[in-house]
Amino acid sequence: MGSWLSTYSGRRDHRKATAIRRENFAIFLQCISVKPQRISVKLNRYLAYYNSHKRNRTTIRGNRMTSDAQRPTWTNWVGNQSFAPSAIIEVASEAEIATLVARAAAQGIGVRTFGTGHSFTPIIETDGLLLDTQRLRGVIAIDAARQQVTALPKTTVGDFGEPLWEAGLALANQGDIDTQAIAGAIATGTHGSGNHLPSFSATLIGARFVDGLGNLVTVSATENAEVLPALQTSLGLLGLLTSLTIKVIPAYHLHARTATLPYGEVIERFAEFAANNRSFSFFWMPSDESAALYCLDNGKRDDCAIRFFNEAPPDMPRQKLPANERLDRAYRIYPMHYDPNFHEMEYFLPLEAATDILQEMRKLMFRWLPLSVYPLEIRTVAQDNAWMSPNYGRDNLVVSVSGKPGDDYWGYLRACDALFAEFKGRPHWGKLHFMTADRLDRLFPRYEDFVAMRRRFDPQGTFLNAHTRALFE
Ligand SMILES: Cc1cc2nc3c(=O)[nH]c(=O)nc-3n(C[C@H](O)[C@H](O)[C@H](O)COP(=O)(O)OP(=O)(O)OC[C@H]3O[C@@H](n4cnc5c(N)ncnc54)[C@H](O)[C@@H]3O)c2cc1C
Repeated sequence: MGSWLSTYSGRRDHRKATAIRRENFAIFLQCISVKPQRISVKLNRYLAYYNSHKRNRTTIRGNRMTSDAQRPTWTNWVGNQSFAPSAIIEVASEAEIATLVARAAAQGIGVRTFGTGHSFTPIIETDGLLLDTQRLRGVIAIDAARQQVTALPKTTVGDFGEPLWEAGLALANQGDIDTQAIAGAIATGTHGSGNHLPSFSATLIGARFVDGLGNLVTVSATENAEVLPALQTSLGLLGLLTSLTIKVIPAYHLHARTATLPYGEVIERFAEFAANNRSFSFFWMPSDESAALYCLDNGKRDDCAIRFFNEAPPDMPRQKLPANERLDRAYRIYPMHYDPNFHEMEYFLPLEAATDILQEMRKLMFRWLPLSVYPLEIRTVAQDNAWMSPNYGRDNLVVSVSGKPGDDYWGYLRACDALFAEFKGRPHWGKLHFMTADRLDRLFPRYEDFVAMRRRFDPQGTFLNAHTRALFE
């Protein structure tokens, strides 16, 4: 896994891609800097330019670029979602975004944006305009007294580490990687593990976004406060976020300890492990090959590779730590490495039923071998109040399962979905799922309110695509 820049396929591609984007952007600016009555015509010309132009075009793969003869194409990080928008436009300011969305909406053209493309679903797909916010990256304000930070949408989770640490602050929790954009992480309810630790969505306390008509909307405790629970897990459907303010906590060190134990013992001691550690998570191996697929150090069939994270004093003597333990600033402990060799589905299930669910999963997994060779990742997440958050009003056990790219893993995923449905499982918005509008209505008590809020800010459905229209129109 690489950073934003290192995921480009090569220096030359990068230079070429940047030049092409600059040229595209210049053309776009020409188009919008004319008199208002000419804008529709000019935007149409601009789109026609993209549709007919025969030179090499930019392809963004998650955040990597290759070339294509006809239209720009975009591919996500893992490679299972690819599409050809009419244009990919690099935007550099809120004002540009507002102008562009207003013009596109006036002509019935769809608009989507992306973070770093780590979602596995068609959540970003569009045949309209795809806005690339890569220039809108960085922490812009830290309020140490109030313990909050404001950042641009493309700021990665990892970008927060150093500046917050300098101010004596830290993110309360993180997931398995820190390369997601904060806007993408919040839009999909990205989470780490911990009985008392909610997802990133719950930490959003304010934001600015461009709605589906091109209006700029500010949300804070004193302005449009009623919008916050919808915006906290919005799938990008209320508008395009241009800045986000999140709640943080005092800086802390983490003592990380790994252990390998048989699944039976982990199930028996699950409640104890989850209650007695700040963060407890594990990977269960359905086969001897499983560990290597997720770059884990060890673990045989039916073993669990466990991670315990607990706060520790920074002066804890590091040199005496055994090989399976680490002590460091929290933001350096969380991230791990993945290769893009898996397609993931993840559901949130009532924590109170954890033992039953874990037993049932083992039976199901062994029935579906050899398709189910990827480790299951098991975590816990605290409840929150975000309307479309899978943790809305419920502490959850989180179960992740994966299929191998190229395999027909859908039967296996459907079987997991059926089991999760028995426990009222809710989906991770960035990972594969089998939701329908009816199911969402049954699973999310504030679903109707979210749909109404979506319509309020995007009455024309400018930010909807086929995937989200089926769920939220
Ligand atoms: C290797 C790997 C590890 C992962 N680990 C975890 C984990 O530990 N925990 C977890 O919960 N998830 C995890 N995920 C899932 C991942 O965190 C989510 O899919 C997340 O959304 C990815 O962030 P992104 O920046 O790549 O967003 P993208 O996938 O690019 O976009 C996600 C959504 O955000 C929207 N969006 C992006 N920017 C904006 C904006 N400016 N305004 C409005 N909407 C916007 C997009 O339109 C889209 O709807 C992992 C995924 C991978 C591939």
